[in-house]
Amino acid sequence: MTDNTFDKSRLTLLGLGAMGTALARAWLAAGHRLTVWNRTPDRAVPLAAEGATVAVTVAEAVAASDLVVVCLLDDASAEEVLAEADLTGKDLVDLTTRTPAQARARAGWAEGRGARFLDGGIMAIPAAIGVPGSGGYVLYSGSRSLFDACRGTLAVPAGTVYLGEDPGFAALYDVALLSAMTGMFAGVAHAFALLRGEKDASPKEFAPLLADFLTAMAPYAHRVADQLEDGDYTRGVTSNLAMMVRGNATLLETAEAQGVSTELLTPFTALMERRLAEGYGAEGTAGVVDLLLR
Ligand code: NDP
Repeated sequence: MTDNTFDKSRLTLLGLGAMGTALARAWLAAGHRLTVWNRTPDRAVPLAAEGATVAVTVAEAVAASDLVVVCLLDDASAEEVLAEADLTGKDLVDLTTRTPAQARARAGWAEGRGARFLDGGIMAIPAAIGVPGSGGYVLYSGSRSLFDACRGTLAVPAGTVYLGEDPGFAALYDVALLSAMTGMFAGVAHAFALLRGEKDASPKEFAPLLADFLTAMAPYAHRVADQLEDGDYTRGVTSNLAMMVRGNATLLETAEAQGVSTELLTPFTALMERRLAEGYGAEGTAGVVDLLLR
């Protein structure tokens, strides 16, 4: 497929789960000529009424467009679905969540079958897809020529962030962001647990304080990045490790007193204590990053 013949309005989408359906609706609403396929055909019925062409087989769906977008459960289902498809000359954009290693392997697999390949990591929930200003975006990595050729189409459902030719990077950044989110979920669970036993403490009253505080703390990521990049982990530190480890003792003591398990707090606390014991009390927490490397 040469870029000057790229038909920007025609595409095929394989997978109509919650996310695939949201993507389909965004492209249909923007006037794209969309062919869809799903293992369970019933899920395509509402989209047919909204203007999608429904393919009965994967082969038919892939043949209908040069640009083929995949949004299936996992890497294994994507491999299974595309096993028999003729990908020669196709442009494959795969938004299925997978590991960096799986993305690199899938890129080689697709290119070996004659397709250009872009891997994508969706940083949005279905309700945010096709909603301008929702803040949702998709991370992409892999073929730059393919990204350049279809970025207008890809920008319809959500913002686009291109991370370079290494097809593993979208998955790596995706997993890094979701891992940080997991830490946040753990912190939120612990915070609500602390209040749970108090009959006068209202989760609804506490929630806005919690959300605003987390938002105010979020720029911490930039300070850690600055320190990691210039190698000086004391740069700009106003809350040093020695103080924070002391403060953590208060967190743990309060959890015990409230009858709350400390199991979500202790792993990070232990790493901070280790770094402090190694003599880095004037740093912030950037040194913990290095302690995690195996
Ligand atoms: P759903 O569980 O709603 O849908 C899964 C889709 O995969 C369905 O189309 C299902 O087909 C299909 N599928 C599963 N196994 C197979 C198989 N063996 N062969 C053929 N088709 C198969 O998931 P979502 O749509 O929510 O998620 C799709 C991708 O998007 C995932 O990788 C997910 O991680 C990612 N994502 C989802 C987000 C979300 O909030 N939903 C957010 C960010 C990313 P069938 O209908 O026949 O079961």
